[in-house]
Amino acid sequence: MTAPEPGKGPALVGLGLGANLGDPAANLRRAVEALARAGLRFEALSSLYRTRPWGVTDQPDFVNACALARTDLEPLALLDLIQATEQALGRQPTLRWGPRVIDIDLLFYDDRIWRDARLTLPHPGLMERAFVLLPMAEIAPETRIGGVRLAEAAGKIDAGGVLRIGGFKPFCR
Ligand code: AMP
Repeated sequence: MTAPEPGKGPALVGLGLGANLGDPAANLRRAVEALARAGLRFEALSSLYRTRPWGVTDQPDFVNACALARTDLEPLALLDLIQATEQALGRQPTLRWGPRVIDIDLLFYDDRIWRDARLTLPHPGLMERAFVLLPMAEIAPETRIGGVRLAEAAGKIDAGGVLRIGGFKPFCR
């Protein structure tokens, strides 16, 4: 693990949020509020998107959104916070890609590359899944992942099954 560079300031992180149990949009809002209470400083929140389930398709549609936030937490400490937040919101162990009250993914952390048993950065799904790429490209179009602008990648991905359903903006400060 590398130490923060002196004077560099807080990291800019991209988060992906998803839910398809209970009131999914409310769960996303509760997740943002809980992370903000824990010290994340949100700079942008995407619209909400209704998306067809991916992987396991026999389950309710998801609501997805993405956020940009600043944090002083190092990547694994941020992952700890993300997972504690999922637990606090009532996430139960489930099958991979199964239904969930809340899912929070760390999509990128500045331009850090990371690969260990707990954490992969950038998140491998970011450039492959329209339900993550479209909301993140909405708020960070010029961000590059592996040298590719998110706006450019979003323009090329199959956006079928991903529908913008409205604003999440009121929760942004
Ligand atoms: P999920 O079911 O999507 O919440 O996946 C959670 C698992 O993915 C946990 O075991 C995490 O340690 C692991 N993981 C690896 N990379 C990431 C990442 N960038 N963001 C969130 N979870 C990650």
